[in-house]
Amino acid sequence: MEKIDLLILGSGPAGYTAAIYACRANIQTVVYEGLQPGGQLTTTTDIENFPGYPNGISGQQMMEEFKAQAQRFGADVRFGFATKVDFSERPFKVLIDDEKWVEANAVIIATGANAKYLGLESEEKFRGQGVSACATCDGFFYRKKNVAVVGGGDTACEEASYLATLCNKVYMIVRRDVLRASKAMQERVLNTPNIEILWKHQTKEIVGDDMGVNGAILVRDGKDEVKIDIDGFFLAIGHHPNSDIFKEWVDTDAEGYIITQGKSCRTSREGIFAAGDVQDPTYRQAVNAAAAGCRAAMDAEKYLSENR
Ligand code: NDP
Repeated sequence: MEKIDLLILGSGPAGYTAAIYACRANIQTVVYEGLQPGGQLTTTTDIENFPGYPNGISGQQMMEEFKAQAQRFGADVRFGFATKVDFSERPFKVLIDDEKWVEANAVIIATGANAKYLGLESEEKFRGQGVSACATCDGFFYRKKNVAVVGGGDTACEEASYLATLCNKVYMIVRRDVLRASKAMQERVLNTPNIEILWKHQTKEIVGDDMGVNGAILVRDGKDEVKIDIDGFFLAIGHHPNSDIFKEWVDTDAEGYIITQGKSCRTSREGIFAAGDVQDPTYRQAVNAAAAGCRAAMDAEKYLSENR
């Protein structure tokens, strides 16, 4: 079985920053990129709030630069994702792509989080045929059409603003009579003429035919049913941390976020560290994930040097 000193799972800002720090500390480091190489930022529009890019940068480009920087210092970056782990004893065992076990002296979990769905049958049925959780990835297909975005947070406002530049009309389906988003984002959507906010509306069903989505049935204020004609239905109701395979081995909170100790990235199991959106339900920003990746690498370095 292959033996690795430090194994990093995930290739978002947390994973690559951890790799940069670990490699510079002369630790043999392997990164498995996971299901979405580059992480969630590769599915977003321009990043305008990451320091060092005064003119903004596309998420895709930024993550290519993170990767190149990690590789420059010797990170072994590989395709593949962890499907099972056995953290019962050192060396820790990780199954990659359900076929290859590797062993590692320390592991940094930086597997991020994924978009949540409402849980409707019709949502499953039309996934990829009008239902999407990524406006940046799929907005292009709905140029000059009508679409809806569910949610009232910053993500929903961002997605709605982006779609408004492409689409004829964007409905925002908001379950309360307020937006959770920051003031700046609220103002942006409220001042965009082709965004209409449907306050106190919940989605009952997404409707369509062989060609895909053509509408949605909503319930207004828990009472009346309303039908809207749309071709695209975008989810923006939050995220679920990608921690399912680790829950047996490290402590998580009620929502599945991995619990880390104090300011460190140490989990409840010695030698296993977590960084980024998989352990941060609050400050889920690239710059925070990168900072956590740095801390995780420093924690791992200390652990490895004390446990040679
Ligand atoms: P949030 O958890 O902030 O918002 C989720 C939204 O979806 C809320 O409006 C919530 O409603 C609604 N919602 C949740 N479940 C359902 C449901 N079942 N049906 C209908 N509506 C539902 O998630 P975000 O992804 O928007 O943001 C996550 C974090 O990332 C936040 O801290 C945010 O500030 C940050 N962020 C920052 C950005 C930036 O700075 N550029 C961009 C994007 C995100 P309710 O309010 O009623 O609970």
